[in-house]
Order: sequence, then C-alpha cells, then structure tokens
Amino acid sequence: MTRPAPAIVILGNGSLATARNIQRLYPDAVIHGLAERVEGADRVYHEFGATLRELYQQDTPIIALCAAGIVIRTLAPLLLEKGAEPPVLAVAEDGSAVVPLLGGLGGVNVLAREIAAALNVSAAITTSGELRFGTCLLNPPNGYALGDLELGKRFVSDLLAGETVRIEGEAPWLAQAQLPENPQARLAVHVGHAERTPAANELLIYPRNVLVAVSAPVANVPDAIRDALHQAKIAVQSVACLLAPDSEMSSAALREAALELGVPLRFASAAGAVSELARNAIDSSVLIFGDDAIAIAVAEQPLDPSSIGRPRGRLAVIGLGPGAAELMVPAVKAELARANDVLGYETYVRMAGPFRADQVLHCTDNREEMQRARHAFELAAQGRSVVVVSSGDPGVFAMAAAVLEALHESTDAAWHNVDLEILPGVSASLATAAQAGAPLGHDFCVLSLSDNLKPWDIIEKRLDLASQADLALAFYNPISRSRPWQLGRALEIVARHRTPQTPVVLGRDIGRPGQTLRVTTLGQLTPDQVDMRTMVLVGSSTTCVFSRAGGGDWVYTPRWYGEKPSS
Ligand code: SAH
Repeated sequence: MTRPAPAIVILGNGSLATARNIQRLYPDAVIHGLAERVEGADRVYHEFGATLRELYQQDTPIIALCAAGIVIRTLAPLLLEKGAEPPVLAVAEDGSAVVPLLGGLGGVNVLAREIAAALNVSAAITTSGELRFGTCLLNPPNGYALGDLELGKRFVSDLLAGETVRIEGEAPWLAQAQLPENPQARLAVHVGHAERTPAANELLIYPRNVLVAVSAPVANVPDAIRDALHQAKIAVQSVACLLAPDSEMSSAALREAALELGVPLRFASAAGAVSELARNAIDSSVLIFGDDAIAIAVAEQPLDPSSIGRPRGRLAVIGLGPGAAELMVPAVKAELARANDVLGYETYVRMAGPFRADQVLHCTDNREEMQRARHAFELAAQGRSVVVVSSGDPGVFAMAAAVLEALHESTDAAWHNVDLEILPGVSASLATAAQAGAPLGHDFCVLSLSDNLKPWDIIEKRLDLASQADLALAFYNPISRSRPWQLGRALEIVARHRTPQTPVVLGRDIGRPGQTLRVTTLGQLTPDQVDMRTMVLVGSSTTCVFSRAGGGDWVYTPRWYGEKPSS
C-alpha cells in the first residue's frame, strides 16, 4: 500500500516559513495549521491531540513543528497498539533541529536526513546501525523484503560489536552501504527468491521479483498459491503482486487472498491461459510454474507492481457533512486522500480540498448529475480511484442515488466491477437540529420542496399528510429564485394542521463560515427569512422551546408522545 503524503503540523504562524521550506521538498505534503493561530495553512485543525492521533492511525507520515515531548505524549497512548507505524518527526519551529521519533522501519531516518539537508542542519539520528553503515539493514528499500526482523536486529548489533559479513546474491543498495564485508565472515546476508531455510548466522533478504497469475475459481486461493510456490521452490516473501484477468475483478476470494499474502492485486485483459497472462505482464520473465489456475513468473529485477496491469477501480460517493472539517467522518477524509479524481459541483469540490497537484478535479454544474455519475464510472473503470462529492449526506437529495441509477442503467461489466462504496456524512437537517437542541427528537419527516424533479401536487400531498400525522418536518431546498412561491404555499398547508405557536428552526450555512441559527414560530415565519442555503425545521405539537443560559433558546421534541410517562 502506498503511504499518504506527509502532514506538516504547526501550532503558530512562527513555524509557517519552516513548514513551507519542508513542503518544497515534498510538494504533496499538506500543512495543517491550528485554527485562529495560523493563517495561510493548507488545512485548518482545531485540536492538536485528536488531529495528530488521527493522522498517525491513517498511516500518514507526521512532521510536527513543535517540541518532541509534546508529540511523544500525544501519541503515547497509540504506541502499544499493533498496526501501522508511519514516520514521525519533530522539527524545531525555526528549523534548527530535526529529530526522528518513530517509524524506524518506515524510513523515518531517510526523511530526517532529507529534511535536515534542506534546512542546512544535521539530523539527530540515534540509530547506531544507520550511523555506522549509512543504511538500515532492517529497512530494505521498495522491492526487497527482510526475512526475519529479530535476526536482523541481532545481526546489526553483532556488526556494531565488530563482526564482519558476507553478502551472497545481488542487492545494489547493500553494495552502497559501508558494511564490513569479508568473504570469510561468520555472518552472511543471502539475497534471493528461492525458498530456503536460513543456515546458521544467515539473514535472508528476498527480492520481490515474482509474479503470480491466478484465475479463480480455485478453492482456497492463498493455500493454492503457497502450494504452487512451494512446488516451484520459490519463497512466498518474494511475491511482488498477484495478477488476475479483468473478468474476475469483483472476486472477493482474490481480494482476500491478496490481503492475506500482503501483496497488491492487479488485473489485465486475458484471452488465454494464466500462463499467458503472467508471460505478457513482465519483460524478460521466466515462467517457472503453470497449471490451469496458477502461473508463476520470475523477473530478473524486483517488480514495480504499479506498472503491471491495473488495479480494480474504485468509486466512492462521499458526504462532506455541512462544511466544517471536524464534522467530516474520518473514512471520508481517508477517501479524499487516496483519490486520483474528484468530481462534483464546484462549491463542494472546493470545500473538500485542499488537493495535491497530482489529484484531478472535475468541477461541473450542479444540474449535471447523471452525466457526472457516468463520467465517474468511466474513470473508475480505468482503474482509477474516484470520489464523487456531495454536501451533507450523499444519500439525501444528492449524488448517491444518481450514481446507482447510472450503474443500474448500464450493461457495461467494467462499470459493475468497480469497487463502489457510499460513505455517509452529517446531513444538514441533523447538523441544524444538533445546534438547536433536539427538534427531531421524535418521529420526523424529511422533504425536499423542490419541484424540479417531482410534480408540485405530490409535494402538497406529502406535506398535507405529514402535517396531519403530526410529524416534525425538515425542509431541504425550501426556496430558490426559480421557485419563489412554493415555500409560502407549503407553510399554508402546514398551518392547516399546526398552531401558529409551533416552533420553527432556521439554520443557514450551518457548519460554514457565517452560519446563523434562528428560532421562530410558524405564525411568524415568512418566506423572505429563508433562502436556498437554509434548512427549515418545523416542530410537531409536542416540540418545546426554553431559554438557554447566555442567550438564545433550546428547542426539543420529547421522546414520548401523548401522555408524559411518570419518571
Ligand atoms: N445532501 C445534502 C442536501 C442537499 S439539498 C445534505 O444531506 O445535507 C440542498 C439543501 O440542503 C439546501 O437547499 C439547504 O436547504 C440544505 N443545506 C445544505 N447544506 C446546508 C447548510 N450547511 N446549512 C443549512 N442548510 C443546508
């Protein structure tokens, strides 16, 4: 899996210059600035601790411009948990010190050296093996895998104690290291893809130069692959990727097998046998093994899986929530970080940013929903990771239904094979209700007052019946320039069944800059108090209002109905 771009986290304007210097080194890095303290950061955060822990859990490399102690204390609760450990560094605000803290196996020292060089200081490297040999034997570069970490650690400490080492096989990066080589050494590093029981004092390093092509249906794919590798005398650690025919893109068995073996799963179009698939995928490969279902090919050099076939495309329809970053669910943030393409109405796409230079934005008019949905499938079917953006929740008067409709209408297998997921968001009615108290605390009805996509008389009928049923009401799209009279008419219908004292909540731009919340009554509400950026919540017969300490009102609809239960 590729790691997200680094996050540069700053607490004050004083560190912005250093942050920008580091960003020049990693143009994809995102500068996170503390709200109200930092102006001009790429992204604003409100809570340092929660933000740092979330980044860490998402496996994002962290460059924090603050005291090392703050970072250590903040992340300490997470360190005992198993899981990803991204590189974490503390950098002095003025750029005068660079301290790698965590992620020794994730390349933190490499980052520390790069940053230190850019800032013209030296990195505070404390890993003895690295200091002595200029590389971390335990952290081979992409394309190689270490056989045994514990053995590796012992090796490094033996070397530090003065032992020498033999290197068998080819590993260009080791050749560059200043290891104390000696053909007669007791310790040996063996580089190769053959299945092998390590001899005494032998550290195995596997080049990832093996491709396994599979074609389901095979019962128990991981075991079948392991058996085939064993027969071919190839180490499972040397497998760089699994390759399967396009037709099996939605196979859960293959997906799980790749996950279990810890390798990427790629796809290619295939007419013939899997052996052909394997042979076509890589240059200068030697086909070692092949039957009807599994073929193994070995390349001369480590393979770069991203250049083999293509991945299964992904399409996520996400909800941003009302606008404020802290109301966006973490799964949505992670999805935005992995996106290659982002589609949506320009205002929402901008709200979802900032984006990296490599992410492609496709901004369209709000009315072109079906066209946008089809475009999203076209991109995803090419193997890209695509995000369609909605505000609030994507399933509430938004893109999720349009995307599913486009898929339903399509007979293109490539579209149906896309990994489609809908990720929820906080809808405007819920965000507004939360700010007012709990006006939707009992049964309620959600309606869009827009008659663009449905006849007005059905809206009247639903309004009449919902009001009659004494449901609290949430109106989306209450009014617009092209629909000036509808809200007035809607309120007349509601007034047939509700008293003028019925509480009404108006939330405008909730969760966005300049938000306003107003509590009024049905009798006092006029359409000119409402615009298309407003959420209208109308209470039921039980909805109550009382004053808040410090001004304003609380509005709630009790959980009970009819007679108040004795408590
Ligand atoms: N998918 C969105 C709704 C889209 S319909 C969601 O779940 O929230 C657009 C309507 O939603 C607007 O006309 C307005 O009535 C309401 N709305 C959206 N965002 C809002 C916000 N931040 N504050 C108040 N109302 C909002």
